[in-house]
Amino acid sequence: MIIDCHGHYTTSPRQHEGWRGEQIEAHKAGKPPPRRPNITDDEIRASIEGGQLKVQRERGTDLTIFSPRAAGMGHHLGDATTSEAWASACNELIHRVCSLFPQNFIGVAMLPQSARVSPKNCTAEIDRCVSEYGFVGVNLNPDPSGGHWQDPPLGDRYWYPVYEKMVEYDIPAMIHVSASCNPTHHTTGAHYLNGDTAGFNQLMTSSVFKDFPTIKFIIPHGGGAVPYHWGRYRGLAQDAKLGLLSEVVLKNIFFDTCVYHLPGQELLAKVIPVDNILFASEMIGAVRGIDPETGHHYDDTKRYIDQLPLSAADKVKIFEGNARRVYGRLSGTIEKQSAR
Ligand SMILES: [Zn+2]
Repeated sequence: MIIDCHGHYTTSPRQHEGWRGEQIEAHKAGKPPPRRPNITDDEIRASIEGGQLKVQRERGTDLTIFSPRAAGMGHHLGDATTSEAWASACNELIHRVCSLFPQNFIGVAMLPQSARVSPKNCTAEIDRCVSEYGFVGVNLNPDPSGGHWQDPPLGDRYWYPVYEKMVEYDIPAMIHVSASCNPTHHTTGAHYLNGDTAGFNQLMTSSVFKDFPTIKFIIPHGGGAVPYHWGRYRGLAQDAKLGLLSEVVLKNIFFDTCVYHLPGQELLAKVIPVDNILFASEMIGAVRGIDPETGHHYDDTKRYIDQLPLSAADKVKIFEGNARRVYGRLSGTIEKQSAR
């Protein structure tokens, strides 16, 4: 089985994001939000069958761990109330996709975060998404201000209410920022990779893994700059007397394979132990074009892994085994959903 651990609903029916625009406009005008639009099952089916499901079939992958569009989370817009309504609507839509295509999609939640608002307000949505929807993880935004970094670092106890829920339910968090409202930080070209890199460094220098020995985080986009600069982080950990970097982080931190060329994947697989790498593509996401050097989509990452000089057993870990281990509820949910 080939499990893609990083996919977003970038093809949702137009009225979904249309409502979001109206919601934020109403908030600015001090008015109540408009009613949620009607979205039919057929509209959802069409958006998936012509989108992510089509790509799964073309590329030979089986299951996508699926969450709301990341750049659309927009935690810097509106306030805690608008974030709550928006997260709830986005997660419900993911649940509907997973109910219509239970063999192909399993849900991950976006959280109703807002800049400088305690993440304590996310716990009810985590409860709801795990117990009602059967979601297997969350996306945690380390910078809800959208590029201005106004909240404490991920090592701060500020974030512990979310970590307690993650451990309680055995669900990992993918560290994933949303859109940037800071023009110096392009959303997908800079802010995403900065968020990955900063999140790793914040966790590495914290007591989070001492306080939550079983907690698990996925650093997406191949780990931002981290694998390329592994020597720097080893040295920083050593200078700060944290111990050996591999012992400090590798029980708790995992990297996905959203790296869009073969040399990058080769580096990732050379530097990071195979047990800490999870297959992912973020298909129909940030980079949608075809690479003229290969003739294939940049985000068709399965092709790169197929070409890595690894044993078949190691590739099974990257494509399936590690995801089942990191997402503690995944195997049970696969069984439940495939019985439908
Ligand atoms: Zn993403």
